[in-house]
Amino acid sequence: MEALIIVDVQNDFCAHGALEVAGGDEVVEPINRLAHQLPFVVATRDWHPPDHHSFAENGGPWPVHCVRGTHGAELHPDLDTGAIDAIVDAGRTPEAEGYSGFEATNLEQLLREHGVDTVHVAGLALDYCVRATAVDARQRGFAVVLHRDATRAVDVAPGDGERALAEMLKAGIEVTGAAPPAADRT
Ligand SMILES: [Zn+2]
Repeated sequence: MEALIIVDVQNDFCAHGALEVAGGDEVVEPINRLAHQLPFVVATRDWHPPDHHSFAENGGPWPVHCVRGTHGAELHPDLDTGAIDAIVDAGRTPEAEGYSGFEATNLEQLLREHGVDTVHVAGLALDYCVRATAVDARQRGFAVVLHRDATRAVDVAPGDGERALAEMLKAGIEVTGAAPPAADRT
């Protein structure tokens, strides 16, 4: 049984968002295609309280983003929500980092209940939540396929995306799909 995990394709990580990932909007089309091909589809959301520790004003590394219930935390409007079977929210308490969709959520239970043994992973951002979610899935015993065409990196430091890919390959994750053009990976 295969499933798709759509990681954090939310307004704040897309064009004009608070924590915009270059080319973030471009993942929506390939993800919608995958969502129609796979029998079980879960979307994760970064879903923070206003006082989340990852925000710069609280001493964290990121601008305020994905505050629960705000426009920025909503899924990208072009994402085909009709193809999504379940939504899982992560980073819901001030201290929960929430990079991995498995951290303090019912994601693993949900996948097990549906007899899932292979997860396809796509979304934002490659070098943070996608990497953490994919590696976590692998460590929990799932076969994992990362769709390179359906993810983009933040690349806070140049090469972060490539390093995340190398880490995922080393963890036994299969990487499929063409890399986006270099212009999208600045
Ligand atoms: Zn976050």
